[in-house]
Amino acid sequence: MLPPVASRFVAGESAATVLEHARQCNEDGIGVICNRLGEHYHDRAPADADAAAYERLAADIGASDLRACLSVKPSQLGLLVDEDVFRENLARVVAAGADHGVFVWMDMEDHTTTDPTLDAFEHHARERGGGVGLCLQANLRRTADDLRRLADCPGKVRLVKGAYDPPNDIAYPTQSRVNEAYRADLEYVFREYDGGIAVGSHDPEMLTLAADLHTKYGTPYEVQMLMGVRETAQRDLASVCDVWQYAPYGSSWPAYFWRRVLERKENALFALRALASG
Ligand code: FAD
Repeated sequence: MLPPVASRFVAGESAATVLEHARQCNEDGIGVICNRLGEHYHDRAPADADAAAYERLAADIGASDLRACLSVKPSQLGLLVDEDVFRENLARVVAAGADHGVFVWMDMEDHTTTDPTLDAFEHHARERGGGVGLCLQANLRRTADDLRRLADCPGKVRLVKGAYDPPNDIAYPTQSRVNEAYRADLEYVFREYDGGIAVGSHDPEMLTLAADLHTKYGTPYEVQMLMGVRETAQRDLASVCDVWQYAPYGSSWPAYFWRRVLERKENALFALRALASG
């Protein structure tokens, strides 16, 4: 069972709990991106099972009036088992999304997965004329080129700084250089894209820049933030722009929870206080 301390970052263990979380967020004007926790599968069975769970979730969202969508991890759908397994499972989830009118995001994992993830996204985005989105990481030197490649592609792009630690020859070495790349990438997409831009960041500086670029170029965009992070800001922003919250759920919550707790001092203090009072 999910302990109360984890429920700040994880929307329960079942599909029903993430849908209930979506209902509550929707009341605050925030859409929800549902991510079933699971990654790095080396066997086909769990990858197939997660694809089936996403198909059911797409049907449940489609049958509801919720503003909710999906986000999948390539290694959760079998990329490390075999590229064909990944492609088959992704095709199932994307088809279910299209059948039920539910948008499907693809998270971006470590740099060894960038090419197959990008190729799979582009295939579905062009074939279906949209309905899918891809996360790109500003810390990778290649991302400016990838953004140019996708400029005329339907679908959406979520720009993040990058949560993995790629080798120096393919990535920017310092946080300030990553921030510089993020600012340049934002300027590029607001100038060159017709829309379909998601700013995946909690950074007040980047959110202000996005708002300024929106004013300058008139390009529509949305902000995406994680469940449990700057939630007051999420609610405030929802009154001025489109805001989506990325909400993970599922029984594999411990690894995700500890990642969140350990990445920032504020999160660790929150966890310690919650444990001390509980
Ligand atoms: P940082 O650069 O970490 O921090 C900048 C400033 O933002 C801080 O100084 C602070 O003011 C504010 N801030 C940041 N975090 C917090 C916090 N916890 N509490 C309070 N203030 C905070 N990465 C991937 O590699 N692949 C993905 O598919 C992916 N998907 C994502 C989806 C979403 C919706 C989001 C929000 C992030 C995703 N990420 C993904 C993670 C991303 O790459 C970054 O690691 C993460 O968002 C931290 O960068 P940042 O821009 O939010 O802020």
